[in-house]
Amino acid sequence: MKKALLIGSGLGSLSTALRLTSDGYSVTIIEKYSTPGGRLNQLKIDGFTFDLGPSFMSMSYELEELFKSNGLKNPIRLEALDPLYQVFFEGNDRGYKIWKDLKKLEEEFKDEEKNLASKVEKYLKKAGEFFHDTEDKVVKSNYTNMADYILKLTRVPLKHLPYLLRNMWSEVEKNFESEKVRVIFSLVAFFLGSTPFQTPAIFSLLNYTEMKHDGYWKVEGGMYRLVEELIKILEQRGVKFVYDTEIVSVENSNGKVISVKDNYGKSWEADIFISNSDAAAFRGKVLGRKKFSEEKLDKMEWTLAPFTIYLGVKGKIDKLMHHNYFLGSNFRGYADKIFTSSIIPQKPYYYVNVSSKSVRECAPEGCENLFILCPVPDRRFKKDWDDKDEIADNIISDLSARTGFDIKSNTLVKKVLSPVEWEEMFNLYKGSGLGLAHGIGQVGAFRPKNKDEEFSNLYYVGASTIPGTGLPMVIISSRLVMERIRKEHGSVQ
Ligand SMILES: Cc1cc2nc3c(=O)[nH]c(=O)nc-3n(C[C@H](O)[C@H](O)[C@H](O)COP(=O)(O)OP(=O)(O)OC[C@H]3O[C@@H](n4cnc5c(N)ncnc54)[C@H](O)[C@@H]3O)c2cc1C
Repeated sequence: MKKALLIGSGLGSLSTALRLTSDGYSVTIIEKYSTPGGRLNQLKIDGFTFDLGPSFMSMSYELEELFKSNGLKNPIRLEALDPLYQVFFEGNDRGYKIWKDLKKLEEEFKDEEKNLASKVEKYLKKAGEFFHDTEDKVVKSNYTNMADYILKLTRVPLKHLPYLLRNMWSEVEKNFESEKVRVIFSLVAFFLGSTPFQTPAIFSLLNYTEMKHDGYWKVEGGMYRLVEELIKILEQRGVKFVYDTEIVSVENSNGKVISVKDNYGKSWEADIFISNSDAAAFRGKVLGRKKFSEEKLDKMEWTLAPFTIYLGVKGKIDKLMHHNYFLGSNFRGYADKIFTSSIIPQKPYYYVNVSSKSVRECAPEGCENLFILCPVPDRRFKKDWDDKDEIADNIISDLSARTGFDIKSNTLVKKVLSPVEWEEMFNLYKGSGLGLAHGIGQVGAFRPKNKDEEFSNLYYVGASTIPGTGLPMVIISSRLVMERIRKEHGSVQ
């Protein structure tokens, strides 16, 4: 039986492991952290359960494909969200609900933007055409080299070219008059860990996926159910898991990796190796590649870092839904600064998830579990986060004022994770939350490849290789790397 060794146990790795076992490989997964899932993880404190990172599932058909193509029934139950989320603007008490149903959306914004439904239809039609013209040809595709990538790009109709030349903000500015509506449609750029002023307009396709194509989904039982169900199947298939163990170097011979060495000095042999550790940082730190030295990595574009707060609160906060955004009043000024400033603004923008609104077991009776995510600069710009409690208190006071609920005095459980902890827990480069950013120079063939440049049996899967970040994307990443492995090594059966 051929042996495969996976470094890391994020969703990209677990999905690859499933495909490898279907092909007859014997699989071992070595994980640095104490539990599986990577960023898709869980935190349990005194009767409260929190999703550590991801809280939205999108492109649900990718999850379906993962199970189906491995001969399994999808064990995950999803429920469509509508409204998708609500948005609060500073100085305005009202939460604007973002409905997929465009009639309801138009009604919600009737004082802000005339004929919103038809404007959104027009905007999404164009984004949808781009999505379908690139999904299979470019996004879900491996590239043999740059020429192959360029050839695939030439198959995308030329009418989409303006998308490449504009940023997301210009695209929404062209389509909507209300500042509030523009801000809301450009929020998806933050889901990519960037801002609408840095993100190319091509990513308006995400508006299409959220509002029209597939929407957002709630996972029954919480996001970590995805990991738990995958682990159950993988254990039944004989996959071996090793936790609290970090791979720190590789041993190679004749252009092949022979074994990888862990932080205790133990060597792990296999026929093929797949790194789920960040595809750029791993090449620099573990393989010592000059092209990925710290100096070079620092010059790359990275997504924003997460600053996360987990609160178990006594009482029910009526103003909050499952997903909520709290925005300030100076969107452009804020977006310009958060990337590179070492000072956290007094009025941060943040997202609040309350999964106890729909998953009862997440909090004791009469309580809520609050997960607050504030995008902040990574550690290239703000190295020390000793002020994390002060920053957290500032956000909590703001949220208390805006919800009319005294969160501080009702807090039963509290944990704060700054980019320092996110980096330490999962080897996220300088604490960047979503990995490499998605500017034109860092997607497709410009992104670190899923096949190593020197070693013929070393591959990569996950957010910083192709196609990019997010849960559905890393599932696609596992399919792409598996296609390569099959082509180059065949299946074992
Ligand atoms: C706060 C936050 C919120 C997010 N929200 C969403 C969301 O709502 N929806 C969505 O779709 N996406 C979301 N994302 C993005 C999503 O979490 C990631 O894109 C995805 O989980 C990345 O998966 P991955 O396969 O790249 O692996 P990762 O999750 O990065 O896991 C890699 C694993 O490898 C381990 N590892 C690293 N180096 C080594 C080593 N040398 N040896 C051993 N083990 C190692 C790490 O400890 C980690 O467990 C969010 C991310 C964050 C941080």
